[in-house]
Amino acid sequence: MSITNELFNTVLRHASQEVSRKEFLSLAGRGLAVGVATSTLASCQDKSSAASAATTPTTGTPASQVDGSTIYTAPGGLQVPSSEAASPPAKVPADLSKPIELEAWKSDVDPQSGPVPTPLPPDKRVGYALVGLGHLTLEELLPAFGECKKSKPVALVSGSPEKLKKVAQQYGIKPDSCYSYQDYDKLKDNPEVQVIYIVLPNSMHAEYTIRGAQAGKHILCEKPMANSAAECEAMIAACKKANKKLMIAYRIQYEPYNRQVKEMVRGNKFGKPKYIEAQNSQSSANPDHWRHKKDLAGGGALPDIGLYCLNTSRFVLGTEPTEVFAYSHSTPGNPLFKEVEEAMSWQMRFPEGVIVNCITHYNTHDSRFYRVNTERGWLHLDNAYAYTGQQLQTSHAEGPAKMKTQVVLSEKNQFAAEMDHFSECVLENKEPHTPGEEGLQDQRIMEAIYQSAREGRPVKLQPVQGTDAFRGPEPKQA
Ligand code: NAD
Repeated sequence: MSITNELFNTVLRHASQEVSRKEFLSLAGRGLAVGVATSTLASCQDKSSAASAATTPTTGTPASQVDGSTIYTAPGGLQVPSSEAASPPAKVPADLSKPIELEAWKSDVDPQSGPVPTPLPPDKRVGYALVGLGHLTLEELLPAFGECKKSKPVALVSGSPEKLKKVAQQYGIKPDSCYSYQDYDKLKDNPEVQVIYIVLPNSMHAEYTIRGAQAGKHILCEKPMANSAAECEAMIAACKKANKKLMIAYRIQYEPYNRQVKEMVRGNKFGKPKYIEAQNSQSSANPDHWRHKKDLAGGGALPDIGLYCLNTSRFVLGTEPTEVFAYSHSTPGNPLFKEVEEAMSWQMRFPEGVIVNCITHYNTHDSRFYRVNTERGWLHLDNAYAYTGQQLQTSHAEGPAKMKTQVVLSEKNQFAAEMDHFSECVLENKEPHTPGEEGLQDQRIMEAIYQSAREGRPVKLQPVQGTDAFRGPEPKQA
């Protein structure tokens, strides 16, 4: 047997953990040129090409022995140390869904890395059609597919042929998978599309969800789910009738820091939660934008950004509010707030006396945080509702000391996590964690908030028993 074949067989045995590290390194080091092991591993199916690639360098000079050390002469003449390429022991399950387990080296003094990613091969990923090529789609969603492991963009829907052409080229979408709004229903004839992701102005969510389900596709719909509870109910019914899944894109419920807060609060880390303060504010300047038109947006700051305070409080606590009391404001004469509210401040009563105070504003500098105040401490999440940059601080007392802790987690693209969760639901026929019912409940609460602000009195809500009453199973990898 040639040394290359012997090494090849050793690599295979090593991959299946039949050889020791010592045995492997000794074989790999028998005078073979740099790169043979990795070339062999990479080209397991083609032994002969791996062997010839390994022994025929295309640039530079092969390694040579000088004074006992191995030297490689790079193109241009520089001599650099040459190390024997080798693959240390690793567990490599054949099952693509199981992570490769690499040789460990970190001590438990430092945070441990998560498992090696297990991306699905491109042909096994769930195909998405993105409807609406505005800020969210172009700035966040399409780039996020680069971090997805189970989802891929395969079709686009837009009113702009120029945008369609350019974006399709940028993301490798086939020209015949680009549709105008008039051609939207033709998505039903595109077998590559399994999910339609609706990223349109709020008033269009209901129609495009219903038509999408009728076209035989699963629906991921942006928040707020719609402009009324009645529309939400119609969307849920249409998806049920078509036997298609419906998920609302509550990215925060898939974001690691918010999930960490939820775990700590639900586990009574610092005693029971007592009250939450939540704020989501930003500033806008274009009165012609759909966000400032009541019929397109449904409302102002509340459904657009205040919704994060509402939905995240429900998510962190797990229970449902029983009563709301609200106050809204729009500066007279400001064209931005002619049709929709500038600010909404509201209080929600939750079971066991938990109080949640929220404020959302369309006319202040960007500010997005919440603090959960508990019996024996607090958890404060800054940039809580932002796309990145979450900062979690906790506080509790230990003897004479106030212990403030900064909790640092690996950031994760929320949009990728959210889309991959929905893809997993499609692939494994599971209920989404944030189904249509979750969006409907928020819509019902927002309607009560508007009613309270209008009438200047508290409004009672239908009591809901238990926890996570409107959520599906927990996401697998959030
Ligand atoms: P945008 O204005 O940037 O894009 C909306 C797109 O809708 C436009 O590009 C256009 O192609 C299309 N459109 C079709 N008919 C239209 C009409 N009559 N008027 C205006 N646009 C029309 O808006 P966006 O910020 O991308 O928001 C889209 C949706 O995504 C909204 O429902 C919004 O609430 C939601 N959103 C969610 C997040 C999040 O973090 N999950 C963030 C931003 C927006």
